[in-house]
Amino acid sequence: MDNCIFCKIIKREIPAKIVYENGNFIAFEDIEGVAPIHLLCIPKKHIENFLEYPSSDMVDMSNFIKETAKEIGLDNKGFRMVSNIKEDSGQSVFHLHFHLIGGAKLKWDKLV
Ligand code: AMP
Ligand code: ZN
Repeated sequence: MDNCIFCKIIKREIPAKIVYENGNFIAFEDIEGVAPIHLLCIPKKHIENFLEYPSSDMVDMSNFIKETAKEIGLDNKGFRMVSNIKEDSGQSVFHLHFHLIGGAKLKWDKLV
């Protein structure tokens, strides 16, 4: 999509710290990381959010996320995987992405 910031990252029109990539997916560092490691895993195809994403494609997305986690070493001590969906979640970029957050003991508390 023309004015999608993540599509621009995929097309190398704006810079990003890309950590892992294959034909269909790309993983890069979140520009405002909330933990020592904060990556975003996205499909190269523009899809607004998880609800719009075909479940059959989740098999490959899921494998890519696991490979990225292993590549970065997040698989050893663990990490959090989050995908924000629509307004109540605070989704701010409307191109499907999974946050991979780790590299430290994470807090978990009431969010509202
Ligand atoms: P969400 O709020 O779940 O839609 O997450 C969007 C994430 O994209 C936020 O954590 C932002 O910090 C991140 N973000 C926005 N623009 C960029 C960018 N140019 N490069 C890397 N991460 C970005
Ligand atoms: Zn996009």
